Amino acid sequence: MTLVVHKYGGTSVADADRIRSVAKRIVDSYNEGNGVVAVVSAMGRRTDELLGLAAEVSDRSHPREMDMLLTAGERVTMALVAMAIQDLGVAATSFTGSQAGILTTGKHGQAEIVEIRADRVREGLDEGKVVIVAGFQGVDPASKDVTTLGRGGSDATAVALAAALSADRCEIYTDVDGVFTADPRVVPAATKLLELTYEEMLELASAGAGVLMPRSVEFGRRFGIPIHVRSSFHGGEGTLVKEETMEQAVVRGIAHDESEAKLTISRVPDTPGVAASVFEPLAAAGVNVDMIVQNVSHDGSTDISFTVPISMLDVAEREARTVAEAIDAGSVSVDKDIAKVTVVGIGMKTESGIASRMFRILADHDINIQMISTSPIRISCVVAGDRVSEAVKALHSGLGLDDGASA
Ligand code: ADP
Ligand code: ASP
Ligand code: MG
Repeated sequence: MTLVVHKYGGTSVADADRIRSVAKRIVDSYNEGNGVVAVVSAMGRRTDELLGLAAEVSDRSHPREMDMLLTAGERVTMALVAMAIQDLGVAATSFTGSQAGILTTGKHGQAEIVEIRADRVREGLDEGKVVIVAGFQGVDPASKDVTTLGRGGSDATAVALAAALSADRCEIYTDVDGVFTADPRVVPAATKLLELTYEEMLELASAGAGVLMPRSVEFGRRFGIPIHVRSSFHGGEGTLVKEETMEQAVVRGIAHDESEAKLTISRVPDTPGVAASVFEPLAAAGVNVDMIVQNVSHDGSTDISFTVPISMLDVAEREARTVAEAIDAGSVSVDKDIAKVTVVGIGMKTESGIASRMFRILADHDINIQMISTSPIRISCVVAGDRVSEAVKALHSGLGLDDGASA
């Protein structure tokens, strides 16, 4: 029997009608002779609503209770989808992440899957049932508390379950037709990709392309699970994320990210060990620093700028101010109005010149580059937040992606 894992995101299960049509799609796959495990997200914007509710009740941080609250979102969907499937005459059973044996670390809000003991899922399949699993959650076996996997975490649940069950396919059903050359909501000229490599998808996802959670792509790559991203609204072909592709695109796609802020510590003494003094306390406080720029000046001091997730800005700012005082640096300034634009393509490994073309296109649009970072297959630039959609559109067109052809 072929075993398929489906995943349905929030928009795809936003109301009763959509839940019934998701149930129909699952039943169609079951009736074709497949074993089906379906991972579901919270309905619509439910996770955001729950976060908002928590903020109304308390302005303190309650990691354990927050996970108790947020996991409820997916739990609602799983039960409703199972009911809708049963109404179509097919046996279905739903499991929370914990019941499905998804064991995680204990880091509330950012837990990582360490093992999946999928016995109950297998039993359900053996009994001929469709199994529905609540995405985005697991349980820490040490504390026995439920955990969540970070925003977008249902993608990770799906790919990790596909790996644990040695599934034949993992299909991520979402509200767009697949992975596009840029966010189709920002770039109307973006085109759907037929395929791209794990490496490219990982760079795009890490750079803000929210269509897949980065960790789900890591699982796919680690366990060799091709990830098929498709529309939940119609039967289009979608996009396949896999190890290798026929064409080695120089520019596969462009991502942008508005979720970071920039901190600058001025007049940092330019002596050995200073960068360690600045970034060690940030790391200890759990702040994930992304880009770093150090400007050498001539009076023996330097300005250090770096970007952090806006969600960690308060912590990062506090640590930066403490360290600035300790090392006798100057002021700390914060800029929330920044965004990052990133160009990705596996062919950059062998073809040079994309960086200079990217810089020229931004220059021609009078968009100032504040920071730059690269990997062998990626170039990222930080620009002013209010110029980012113009930057993505200009790069998309200037690098030859508008008509679907790569540069
Ligand atoms: P789901 O709820 O199904 O998980 P998400 O909102 O998490 O859906 O992800 C789908 C969204 O990702 C799309 O609506 C789209 O706006 C956004 N997106 C960003 N970059 C891309 C891209 N390169 N290709 C497709 N979608 C993208
Ligand atoms: N509901 C969670 C979120 O909104 C998980 C997911 O949708 O993948 O982030
Ligand atoms: Mg998502």
